[in-house]
Amino acid sequence: MEKCSLCETRRPRRNCPALGKDICTQCCGSKREVTVDCPLDCAYLIEGRDHEEMAQVGEYPNREVEVSGAFLERNQPLYIFVLGTLHHAAKENPGVNDSDMREAIAALVQRYRGKESGLVVETTIPNRIAAAVVDSFEQKMEEFREKVKSENVDPAVFIDENMFKVMVFLDRFAALKNNGRPKGRYFLSLLRFMFPPMEPKTDAVTA
Ligand SMILES: [Zn+2]
Repeated sequence: MEKCSLCETRRPRRNCPALGKDICTQCCGSKREVTVDCPLDCAYLIEGRDHEEMAQVGEYPNREVEVSGAFLERNQPLYIFVLGTLHHAAKENPGVNDSDMREAIAALVQRYRGKESGLVVETTIPNRIAAAVVDSFEQKMEEFREKVKSENVDPAVFIDENMFKVMVFLDRFAALKNNGRPKGRYFLSLLRFMFPPMEPKTDAVTA
């Protein structure tokens, strides 16, 4: 009998696009995003998302910071734009997973907390992928700020305090969308779903 290439015991039921091998459903379920780098468009991964349980959030990151519903409503275009820019930064760094993204967002929280309070703290980010995501993100934001300047659009959306709170909100959002798998990319699949490929538009943040 043909055997699953992972457990070498059970009958293989599906072809794993990451491994290019036939594997059983149990191995697919238990090893996806744990030891296997699943492509986000894998049909089995997508199907599995519907039954996925999220990891417990022990404590909300930065819980002392209040991010009200009214703030989010007012700043919806901004946080959607920031999410889109994070998505862009993730795409520029292949191999990134959700835990790298959480580290990147946590570092951005610190950075904008510093800017908001007038204290610029240069933090080093030991995780190289997270650091690269932060660099891509900041570069894209800087390009956007320049662009907005030349178009004479009100730069009020780039108030550091707003950016800080949006980052805190996204930090919590990413913590909620953590499926607990070491190579998990649940949060990144959400970004991919929200942002089909296109360039961020100026009016997205100024509307
Ligand atoms: Zn197996």
